[in-house]
Amino acid sequence: MLRFTKLISKQMRHVRLAFRRWNSNSMSNRALGYNVGEEIHGFTVNKVTNIPELFLTAVRLDHIDTGAQYLHLARDDSNNLFSVQFRTTPMDSTGVPHILEHTVLCGSEKYPCRDPFFKMLNRSLSTFMNAFTASDYTMYPFSTQNSKDFQNLLSVYLDAVFFPRLRELDFWQEGWRLEHEIPKDPLSPFVFKGVVFNEMKGAFSDNEALFAQHLQNKLLPDHTYSVVSGGDPLHIPDLTWEQLKQFHATHYHPSNARFFTYGDLPLEQHLKQIHEEALCKFQQIKPNTAVPPQSLWHKPRAHHIKCGPDSLAADPAKQTTVSVSYLLADITDTFEVFTLNLLSTLLLSGPNSPFYKALIEAKIGTNFSPAAGFDGSTREACFSVGLQGIEESDVEPIRGIIAKTIDEVIENGFEEERIEAILHKIEIQMKHQTTNFGLSLASAIASCWNHDGDPVEVLKIGDKVTQFRECLKKNPHFLQEKVKQYFKDNSHCLTLTMSPDDAYFEKQARAEQEKIKEKVISLTDEKKKEIYQKGLELLALQSATQDASSLPALKVSDIQPTIPFTEVEMAFAGDVPVQYCAQPTNGVVYFRALSSLNTLPEELKPYVPLFCHVITKMGCGSLDYRQQAQQIELKTGGMSASPCIVPDNSDMDVYEQGVLFSSSCLERNLTDMMYLWSTVFNNPRFEDEERLRVLVRQIAQELCNGIPDSGHVYAAVRASRTLTPSGEAEEVFGGMNQVKLMKRIAEMPDLTTVLRLLPRIKLHLLNSDNMRCALNATPQQICKASDDINMFIREISRKKKDRKLLRAHVIEKPLNPAHTGSSATYGVKVTRKLISDPTFKPCEMKTYFQFPFPVHFASECIRTVPYTDNDYASLRILARLVTAKFLHSEIREKGGAYGGGAKLGQGGIFTFYSYRDPNSTETLASFTNGVKWAKAGKFTQQDIDEAKLSVFSSVDSPIAPSDKGMNCFLYGISDEMKQRHREQLFAVTHDDLVKVANKYLAIGQSTRGVAIVGPENESITKDPSWVIR
Ligand SMILES: [Zn+2]
Repeated sequence: MLRFTKLISKQMRHVRLAFRRWNSNSMSNRALGYNVGEEIHGFTVNKVTNIPELFLTAVRLDHIDTGAQYLHLARDDSNNLFSVQFRTTPMDSTGVPHILEHTVLCGSEKYPCRDPFFKMLNRSLSTFMNAFTASDYTMYPFSTQNSKDFQNLLSVYLDAVFFPRLRELDFWQEGWRLEHEIPKDPLSPFVFKGVVFNEMKGAFSDNEALFAQHLQNKLLPDHTYSVVSGGDPLHIPDLTWEQLKQFHATHYHPSNARFFTYGDLPLEQHLKQIHEEALCKFQQIKPNTAVPPQSLWHKPRAHHIKCGPDSLAADPAKQTTVSVSYLLADITDTFEVFTLNLLSTLLLSGPNSPFYKALIEAKIGTNFSPAAGFDGSTREACFSVGLQGIEESDVEPIRGIIAKTIDEVIENGFEEERIEAILHKIEIQMKHQTTNFGLSLASAIASCWNHDGDPVEVLKIGDKVTQFRECLKKNPHFLQEKVKQYFKDNSHCLTLTMSPDDAYFEKQARAEQEKIKEKVISLTDEKKKEIYQKGLELLALQSATQDASSLPALKVSDIQPTIPFTEVEMAFAGDVPVQYCAQPTNGVVYFRALSSLNTLPEELKPYVPLFCHVITKMGCGSLDYRQQAQQIELKTGGMSASPCIVPDNSDMDVYEQGVLFSSSCLERNLTDMMYLWSTVFNNPRFEDEERLRVLVRQIAQELCNGIPDSGHVYAAVRASRTLTPSGEAEEVFGGMNQVKLMKRIAEMPDLTTVLRLLPRIKLHLLNSDNMRCALNATPQQICKASDDINMFIREISRKKKDRKLLRAHVIEKPLNPAHTGSSATYGVKVTRKLISDPTFKPCEMKTYFQFPFPVHFASECIRTVPYTDNDYASLRILARLVTAKFLHSEIREKGGAYGGGAKLGQGGIFTFYSYRDPNSTETLASFTNGVKWAKAGKFTQQDIDEAKLSVFSSVDSPIAPSDKGMNCFLYGISDEMKQRHREQLFAVTHDDLVKVANKYLAIGQSTRGVAIVGPENESITKDPSWVIR
């Protein structure tokens, strides 16, 4: 259960990492100079290991006085990461570790202001800040590229976890409280409130999460894994403030802590600060938090649970889920775990795997069961396989299929080529540079280290691959024997089934009411009065002006005034423009192509997402879909297509529409990958109706399952649908209508009509008309790559006379506006063809999507100005300002929602949103009050500077070598434009902010749209201004 992760991870898709000095390896080499036994600032070095395949050196240390463990990974990456993790092993489902995770971030001894964690988001240039509660540990990571910022954040994090205030009012706000529905009205009924309480209600409205939770509870029933570490909403109100403080005292101690640092900042400085600010104040204790091994069962077990009905289920009669799960090896046995992980991939990943063939292609269900595959998050790893979207009567036959498949694998083994494909995948994953590599490493080692395994062993992937190959060579039945040992002969095996109960949510609500009644009945009048008083006290505290002056902060002057420009070169392959960007990609080549949709007839548009999903999965040329999947795995890091709508950066009514083809491969495989692409373009196979059915069911199931998690995205897409032509197109490709269309297709008994649409879309899309390409690779590779791209373009079909642009309103714009005419770098003029819809008129609309969820997702969107407009920068700062200084307190702290705020989209849509929100219309009122607050201008220069820092931390977030130059290629935003935008951001003043609030956000100024996803709502149903869906 993560604090805010879902929201952050949505934003994180745009966060990429810079790698400077890639070839130097200087930090890694320097770290090799540490000697075992050396003492540094209270720590002893106990192991130094070079890991060449990841370009890093690992240094393990122990803190002498407390026994705290430390791992530093020295690597030439400026995106430095810190994390501290505690082993938290609760024995009940009150959610104590989760509520503690929230509450320690509410103020500490040195930083006594309210909510320093959220405040630091505005006082730092962090590239990541978060906290996670896993089943058996709690982790606090952050990353930043600025060394001063690193020290600031480290200081706040250390004080938060070791010296939190843990006040009773913080516990009420973040955990749970009994309070009057309207705190100021003592006659209004008592209800439960609290951030974690609502967060968990939201989390368990997701049937996949519910299933995964029960799976762990029942497969590992002897100790901490039998409870819900995030908190069961019906047990959360059993937790007391005293118990919370006790849990902190016993678990958040250095002797129970594991510190991790990563990057190019010097280790000594980290050690000194951690020792002086925290560890020197503690003595060693015996934490007693270890998880004992699960005692093994002598015979398999079965369990059944109920869930809420899925109103979008493709087939209402098929809503049962079944899985068979096995307990595997100890997580600290790193080679065994590596082997079992690889084995799981062989067993159920992709259309060539035995479980895919036996279960998915049998079309008994829609998709694999939740949590299918390998799970290494507990002390002993597990493996699960099963199906969702099945009929109840199919449970037994499916168990039979699983057993039979295991027997067949033991008999026949795996094809050598599949094993090679997986080892190739590991190689490419190691070489692919991501922007959050430190965080990936921290997560990869967390579980093993948590149970006292050696985290460095987990990272030695090269050794593991060598050892694996040796085992296979020595014993060709190596994998088959593992399958026999862990699956066939394993009696620690659980069958879990889940089926819907129409009254499920009703029963949950009734149980909550019972719980409230139970609490209220024991209250004396005096106690009731006290609750009323405390409710007012909390409200007053939440509404008080906050003093954050104790917190460290960067200044606006710490932000780099200019950005380094990315060099790209433009050339032509035939008449197709190709952008080349030389980058230290570590031997991986990234190829993309964007093909326009301008000639596609309107009636085919809704099927473009389906087309994209299946185009690389149905087979091509002489390859059937299995052979194609095998080739893609053997030769590439993935080949995919996705629809994209790009709003113009200077005109709200203009946008570009197309499909983006993306792929990557090792340098040695580029010719093969481009050949695969030309075969996909020239001879895609669209004849296999059964294959299409399998894929469509999976997509429909995934889309439906995604709604409880991404409700805010669906609400925002709908709310902006009537504001711009691009918003309308976005709804067609990615809105609730798309989900409903997929569901309809999945239900169709005959798919031939859909199958016939695919070649029609191909005709308009898979050719070199209106295409542009981009390639990122090492400088040495670019010359060879251009030959391969030329060959690809020559081979795919060219212009045909009969394909006219359907829209009369096509606007041609230069791809890089800074390089119109003949420019040195761009050489020739390259344009994009955008479209406008002169019949489009923005209009107001309010939509309510009724779902059986216990929480809401609300969104209000306002049409403002495009990226290049002078006011865009002011609106962007304003969105951040109103989030941090007003909406966060109203929607999260007072309202009890998991999240809420405002943001400005690239297309100029100002979006208010709430996430897992107990309120609906009240939140809409908060949005309106947010605008009033902004208009009144009662914010300080400090507030504005903080908003600027926060905006710049996303503007300046690192970009991976694979993604350099993409802003220009995809969005037509050149580095010159980005630099101008930076200057506009720096220049924003108090007056500008008040001006744009009045000019665009005030009621009656601009067109707006509203949408809510949530449960039945009487007041909205009665209000004719709402459209109910
Ligand atoms: Zn949480």
